[in-house]
Amino acid sequence: MNNPLPAEILIATHNAGKLREFQNLLSGFPFALRSLRDFPNVAEVIESGSSFAENAVLKARSYSEHTGLWTLADDSGLEVRALGGAPGIFSARYGGDNATDAQRMNKLLSELSRTGDATRRARFVCVIALTDSASAQVKTFTGTCEGRIADEPRGSGGFGYDPIFIPDGYTESFGELSPAIKQLISHRARSLKAARTFLLDGFPSLA
Ligand code: IMP
Repeated sequence: MNNPLPAEILIATHNAGKLREFQNLLSGFPFALRSLRDFPNVAEVIESGSSFAENAVLKARSYSEHTGLWTLADDSGLEVRALGGAPGIFSARYGGDNATDAQRMNKLLSELSRTGDATRRARFVCVIALTDSASAQVKTFTGTCEGRIADEPRGSGGFGYDPIFIPDGYTESFGELSPAIKQLISHRARSLKAARTFLLDGFPSLA
């Protein structure tokens, strides 16, 4: 059974960089995009899950309940192989809540150099959870982007760990590559592509 198209979908993020990427990736859909910036009174959901998927589902359900909107929430992060997958779901909090992106990248670079790992393999992971406002059903979509960690931050584009991540097939970091390239190959683009296909299929009922 197909749902009628909602007029609005909430993109459950405060992060301007992420929001910009979602806006670009969802342009062309006939619904308006809102973000948590439009709902300053909605309390932040504590990401208490133990996986990207658990956190994404938690956020989608909770923000949908509080706003009454179809909600798309993502949980994403960087997994470094030699660090056992760290910072992973703790990517946003790595190095402490008040650390800057530069401090997080430096911490990661020094932890990685201590391991002596020469491959510097890493990947970005993004899980998107989509829920409608009427049912408690949630659908998840996962995207990954494989690559390696640069020796030092390079470029000033993107956000978060972009300057130290070099995606496979490229010699430049996400901080150096154009947004158009990142939009083609990123973990977020890949998970959203799966979500887009689902939405384009006529917005099927999640129930
Ligand atoms: P979330 O808001 O809990 O999903 O936090 C994800 C964190 O992972 C962000 O704050 C960034 O530090 C990092 N991250 C996720 N996606 C990206 C990306 O595309 N580029 C750089 N860093 C990212």
